[in-house]
Amino acid sequence: MHKDCEKIVIGAEEIAARVQEAAAWLDGRFCGSVPVAVCNLKGSVMFFTDLVRAMKTDVELDFMAVSSYGNETVAAGRPKIKKHLFSSVQGRDVILAEDIVDTGRTLVTLRNFFAERGAKSLTVVTLLDKPSRRKVNVSADFTCFVVEDAFLVGYGLDYAERYRNLPYIAALRRDVYES
Ligand code: 5GP
Repeated sequence: MHKDCEKIVIGAEEIAARVQEAAAWLDGRFCGSVPVAVCNLKGSVMFFTDLVRAMKTDVELDFMAVSSYGNETVAAGRPKIKKHLFSSVQGRDVILAEDIVDTGRTLVTLRNFFAERGAKSLTVVTLLDKPSRRKVNVSADFTCFVVEDAFLVGYGLDYAERYRNLPYIAALRRDVYES
């Protein structure tokens, strides 16, 4: 385990097994159509690439970025769209891969974003859910893991842009982000 981490919350093998289940669930939902799978950068990147590779359904890939964190461990206000999609989603089935649903504000922003752009449907798949921190009433359609309230890093999740490449999800030591 990385020296800055307190404990591993979800190991690499457990993540891999659950991502397969998420992909199978999506395959069951989308047989016959070609959805657009959208990665919300950067935190979802590992989840997204593993998820779409585990799917049997033909998908198109697109990318966007919504951010409210900066280099902090608490959200710094309203989520902002920092990078728009490359392609139109008008009339398309969209799969959105999220890293964490925390307060839920990012997901509300994204649901509005896809509705305004005329997506035919939106299916949200999240790697993690922290329901104890929810501020708005929103949820994903498929959640891989429900987690306790701790600041997590790894498998795409960062603190000040670090730790994204850890293969597991771990709780960051408090003294690392409080110093
Ligand atoms: P929300 O808008 O739901 O409060 O925040 C969602 C975003 O906050 C996530 O997409 C993620 O980027 C960030 N976030 C929430 N909890 C954590 C955490 O424990 N670790 C990290 N690295 N990011 C988090």
